[in-house]
Amino acid sequence: MKKILLLLTVALLFVSCANPFPGDVTTEPLSESNTARATNGETMDTEDTTTKHAPVTDVDITEIGNIGFGFTEGNFANLTDEIIRKFSEAGIKTVRIVFLYPFSDVEGTTLSQNFSKARALAIKLYNSGFTVLGQTFWPGGWGANASTGEREWLNITGIPKALSDYSGDLYYEKMEDACYYMAKSLRKYVSYWLVSNEPNVSVYTGPMTDAQIIRFIRSCTEGLKAGNPNAKCGVNLLSRVDQARFNFYLRQLYGKNGFLDWVGLDGYFGSLQAGGPETWNSVITDCLKIVTVPIIITEWSYPSPETDPLNTFPNQWSGHERGVESQAEYVAECVSIFASYPEVIGAFWYQMADAHTGVCWECGQADCRLYSDWGLLYTDKTEKPAFFALSEAIKKITAENNG
Ligand SMILES: [Zn+2]
Repeated sequence: MKKILLLLTVALLFVSCANPFPGDVTTEPLSESNTARATNGETMDTEDTTTKHAPVTDVDITEIGNIGFGFTEGNFANLTDEIIRKFSEAGIKTVRIVFLYPFSDVEGTTLSQNFSKARALAIKLYNSGFTVLGQTFWPGGWGANASTGEREWLNITGIPKALSDYSGDLYYEKMEDACYYMAKSLRKYVSYWLVSNEPNVSVYTGPMTDAQIIRFIRSCTEGLKAGNPNAKCGVNLLSRVDQARFNFYLRQLYGKNGFLDWVGLDGYFGSLQAGGPETWNSVITDCLKIVTVPIIITEWSYPSPETDPLNTFPNQWSGHERGVESQAEYVAECVSIFASYPEVIGAFWYQMADAHTGVCWECGQADCRLYSDWGLLYTDKTEKPAFFALSEAIKKITAENNG
């Protein structure tokens, strides 16, 4: 039971940050989406969706390579010009941005407001010298229904409710079309794509079978690569939850019939999961026994609350009192471990800023620490020691690589 709870807890982490504008995808009437489309000035080429994947030839094909160490931020409003400048000056210039399903209708003719916002942010970050790792929508999420409180399968990533027949072909064709559109529309700004979210965790795949999950990933990947022939695609797998299932996905996606370019690893060792920074050594080396593609550490973190009255974090980083100084030490140790593997080509800290919202959205308790203290910045957006630790670690690696 404890194991199941842990699995849900870790996996749910990303849902809240990945859905910064829940109104855009779950409650917004179609008419408002239409207005949003008209007012935000996005134009859509109807050929993009009515012609089956018109060839894209105007991008250069580049080798897969190092994308650097950066962070994840789900709340787009936090990435102000001032914050972007702060990170840029600190040498932290890699960021992961989530793109929810881009259309607000089944036909794929109206852009969702969320996609337009995410696209504008990605372009701004690119123009500021950042490398953007784009993350596509995933099938959905098990969560609490806001009105009934009952746990149910929710379309939290904007996929229209009408598209829920995972056994038919239409669903996968629509996912491919949507990814084609996203990659094509961002081809000059985003070439690294994270497909779906933690497909080895049922929280994000709900009732789908393994075959359907793999078909989802394949369809999205084919769409991304058709829309941007330079797209470099991978998935993120949550480490150390069910090793047999983890390895099954590695073999299916990266084995002899594999079709992905890199593998993403997620882990929260010393807080939600057992271990500490050193745990990453075995996670990486175990993975390299199965795959030959580069690795991106897609989620890694350690929270800094000094108190944890509800025992939200049942695991401790041995020899360390939780707090902002330990968090900074954790950053430095992990970056040094990641940098020691030439196969690791990037890493994304979860997440940019602390979020003290009063009560935990998941359990409703004010003393819950599950979502509050993962940031590199405090809630007022000033720097925590972890911010400086990451900046210094990146500068040290860059100097070593250049020297
Ligand atoms: Zn909670």
